[in-house]
Amino acid sequence: MAKIIQLSPHIANLIAAGEVVERPASVVKELLENAVDAGASKVTVEIRDGGMTFLRVTDNGCGMAPEDARTAFLRHATSKLRTAEDLSAISTCGFRGEALAAIASVSHIDLLTKTAGAVSGTSLSLEAGAIVEESDAGCPEGTTIIVRDLFYNTPARMKFMKSDTVEGGKVTAAVQMQALAHPNVAFTLLRDGKQVLSTPGTGELQAAVYCIYGRECAKMVPVDSHWESYRLTGYVSKPTDSRPSRAMQTLFVNGRPVKSKLLTAALEEAYRNQIMSGKFPSCVLHLTLPANAVDVNVHPAKTEVKFLSEKAVFDCVHYGVLAALNKTPDRPQVQFKPSPAASPIPATPAAKPAAPKQETFFRTMTTEEFKNFSTAMKDAPQPRPAAAAATVAKLETVPAMPLREDKIVPTPAQPTPAPAPVLPPQFTTSIKKESVAPAPVPEKEPEQTVLPIPMDIPWRYVGELYNTYIIVEQGEEAFLIDKHAAHERILFDKLKANQETISSQTLLSPLPCRLSAEGAAELLANDALLDELGFEVEEFGENTLLLRRIPMDLNEADAAEVLEEVAGDLLTGKQEDKSTLRDEMLHTVACKAAIKAGWTNDEKELLALVKEVMTRQELKYCPHGRPICITLSKKQLERQFKRS
Ligand code: ADP
Ligand code: MG
Repeated sequence: MAKIIQLSPHIANLIAAGEVVERPASVVKELLENAVDAGASKVTVEIRDGGMTFLRVTDNGCGMAPEDARTAFLRHATSKLRTAEDLSAISTCGFRGEALAAIASVSHIDLLTKTAGAVSGTSLSLEAGAIVEESDAGCPEGTTIIVRDLFYNTPARMKFMKSDTVEGGKVTAAVQMQALAHPNVAFTLLRDGKQVLSTPGTGELQAAVYCIYGRECAKMVPVDSHWESYRLTGYVSKPTDSRPSRAMQTLFVNGRPVKSKLLTAALEEAYRNQIMSGKFPSCVLHLTLPANAVDVNVHPAKTEVKFLSEKAVFDCVHYGVLAALNKTPDRPQVQFKPSPAASPIPATPAAKPAAPKQETFFRTMTTEEFKNFSTAMKDAPQPRPAAAAATVAKLETVPAMPLREDKIVPTPAQPTPAPAPVLPPQFTTSIKKESVAPAPVPEKEPEQTVLPIPMDIPWRYVGELYNTYIIVEQGEEAFLIDKHAAHERILFDKLKANQETISSQTLLSPLPCRLSAEGAAELLANDALLDELGFEVEEFGENTLLLRRIPMDLNEADAAEVLEEVAGDLLTGKQEDKSTLRDEMLHTVACKAAIKAGWTNDEKELLALVKEVMTRQELKYCPHGRPICITLSKKQLERQFKRS
């Protein structure tokens, strides 16, 4: 082994730069954090060629005195920490004293800075971390840092850079992230001379979210809740607006953008059984907790954190989001798009599909269950005639009832049965009343309109469309209910409420079920789990299992298919989480057992469904995330018929 030497500061900086400065976007992140820490209220970022040749950040923060400006570029030089104790309660974005040294070691830097009240500012030029020029300079208060020719002296790193467009895109994302982290700071980004982002810095998160997510933001649900000394604020998407990836999940802990499996899991838990599998919610969420309840010093780029109490953090996020979703009245309105001049007439009228055979609504319920179901229906809160009359009278005299478009109407306090997940007592939440998009709204987003169902107004069953959608009239609103989605949700909730083993039926003659070799083996190895799910299987040879018992609500004809799905889930590793597997199976059972679109059902059956939907506001989505009910207002129709 060769002789050991201590590395020169320059090489040490280059090594550190590898961790902190990965690409132009990471430089921007660090410089923006410094600007925020300097108390800036306005920060402008300018880049050329994706930030590779030129990158400038200007802030109006506290600036640096000449000697500080020189020290700032040394390794481990910081004004944000003094003692080891300070490390356990960090309130600034930066604290490692590494960023400027690391950036300077791989670029040319020009710095201009001036503190408040100083006669003149300081100008510094550095090359590969060494100061090559220093002078007094006239400049405004604050700091400007120009980084040129990033990685000019580390060709190996340069090779990893993508096209200017890609690097520029990453810079934009980094600025967006800081803008969402610090809504009180106005951020502007110029890319090759063109302004691509500008946030107002009013301190309102919604304004920043709007500048970045645009109209998407108006559809999001506000979150604002407390859990002991933890606070969760921000916006989350509705289950119906889920996305194919997690790219739109933005999470901050004490203002710091973080990647955290724990937070993601807590967020997604709140959407469980409301969202299609393979789809993800989007969010901009700020978790604020005491500085000593989180360790931010676990990653060089400071993007990972450790929590003192993971359980409390999980609960805060999970219940906070859940409460927000539950509170949101969510019955989207029918949309009329302005029709093109001539409405195209289809060349051949669509052939009427043959009506599938009718099956009875309660076919999969036992007598006992049917009795319970009917009793539940009877016990469901009925419209109160007196209150209803009063509300109707009010409706007639006050034309500006909140049953109108263009406004998101908060749900009034309702005597509804509590939504399924009960929030723990130490949990408090408040939903912002005004959730109208902020000032720079180019045009209204019609889809954002949601209306609560007023509980007091009597409703009337009108009929059914296409053997699929039930029409209900209530006051000045009409509701279209997807009978399959509604029934599926009701059955699913009922199955799920039964927390113990799923009740099952023994088949008169056992049902053979052929599977893949792996699938059969997996099922046989999990017989205890199958038992909980209401299945009893037996080996029959040749990759075939004999089904002896199946879940009560499941039709015999569907049993083999469900079993195959369970095998599939087991094989793809869902057995790690038993409750997920159980839920998946309950989805399938509920879906199979529910009445289908296109079936002919008698009015009594449909009325029973309507009763549930009209009295239980929490019935919003089927277990796969499709809406159960949409609204159509009298006003909308009047507008279509040019009556208003
Ligand atoms: P850290 O942010 O971890 O302290 P940096 O290397 O990023 O380390 O910065 C070193 C020091 O330089 C900071 O602690 C701060 O005092 C000073 N500094 C950096 N950027 C600015 C700025 N934009 N305005 C004022 N002071 C700054
Ligand atoms: Mg810093």
